[in-house]
Amino acid sequence: MANYKDALKEFFGEECLFNEPMNTHTTYRTGGPAEVYVYPQTPEQWAFVLKLAQAENIPLRVIGFGSNILVSGKGLGGITCSTKKMNRIVVDENRITAQAGAPLDKVCELACKAGLAGMEKLSGIPGSVGGAVFMNAGAYGQETADCLEYFDIIDWEGRPATLLKEDVKFAYRHVDGLPKCIILSAGFTLKPGDFTQLLAARSTVQHNRVAKQPLEFPSAGSVFKRPANDYASRLIDAAGLRGLSVGGAKVSEKHAGFIVNFNHASAQDIKTLMDQVRQKVKAQFGVELELEQILWGDFE
Ligand SMILES: Cc1cc2nc3c(=O)[nH]c(=O)nc-3n(C[C@H](O)[C@H](O)[C@H](O)COP(=O)(O)OP(=O)(O)OC[C@H]3O[C@@H](n4cnc5c(N)ncnc54)[C@H](O)[C@@H]3O)c2cc1C
Repeated sequence: MANYKDALKEFFGEECLFNEPMNTHTTYRTGGPAEVYVYPQTPEQWAFVLKLAQAENIPLRVIGFGSNILVSGKGLGGITCSTKKMNRIVVDENRITAQAGAPLDKVCELACKAGLAGMEKLSGIPGSVGGAVFMNAGAYGQETADCLEYFDIIDWEGRPATLLKEDVKFAYRHVDGLPKCIILSAGFTLKPGDFTQLLAARSTVQHNRVAKQPLEFPSAGSVFKRPANDYASRLIDAAGLRGLSVGGAKVSEKHAGFIVNFNHASAQDIKTLMDQVRQKVKAQFGVELELEQILWGDFE
């Protein structure tokens, strides 16, 4: 047990960091240090770290671009694995294969430029391909699962496998039936389209995002899932919570569905504000807002 860090350092060298500040790896730009932070890239490297974590009973997490995660200020024990250095994208006729750490937006851009339709509305989502598959990220009526054909995984015991889209059930911002695994890469099948129109659609989406979202501040996008037949942002707004703040965190004045880190917010500021928003919306409208964002580590 005492030596698992030495074993990782010996195996990963410079790709293994200790006490790595998570504010540099999350779009909220807050969060304490990860005890161990590694960049596995090959299936063999993943198998090594997964098997070690299993054998030593060490908690293990995987992070893409940290654009949907709030990390506690107390940091993260155990091993945090980043996919960021696995970023190859291959376009081949109407198929795109991308490694988990490739930016989803880059895949969208290449698809549009190649005249391939089906992902243009996902433009601007600031996540990785692995994070997008795991969350079934979506926007403007398109979801990651729509054009997904298959994805390669490695399970918690270090065994690789390929899953077809039909092997799991993609739902709104989550996937049912996904085994505990790391997504290593994904294959998308797209439809032929007109690249001028696709680039125009991409540009419209990009403009809408800039116009409607508080991109000038760190955030992790929509805090809550859309409740049935409504919008979280509408309820938050109707409850008069736009601009409500805790420490350096506030409900965005531009888009009430976002919490922004406007002034060196601690992760606890953001968590406390999330709780206040949920309580007030519940008290006023009886609606239980469900978190879309994922909390890592200990909070009050
Ligand atoms: C400004 C802004 C706008 C946004 N707009 C949208 C939007 O329009 N639509 C939308 O759906 N989301 C949106 N998001 C949220 C976010 O970008 C998506 O949820 C995205 O898919 C998360 O990807 P990520 O790589 O950042 O994942 P992370 O935040 O790093 O991780 C999220 C979860 O995925 C898991 N995960 C990540 N990679 C892997 C992998 N390779 N294998 C297994 N599990 C993995 C993590 O363990 C974690 O549980 C927005 C965020 C921001 C900051």
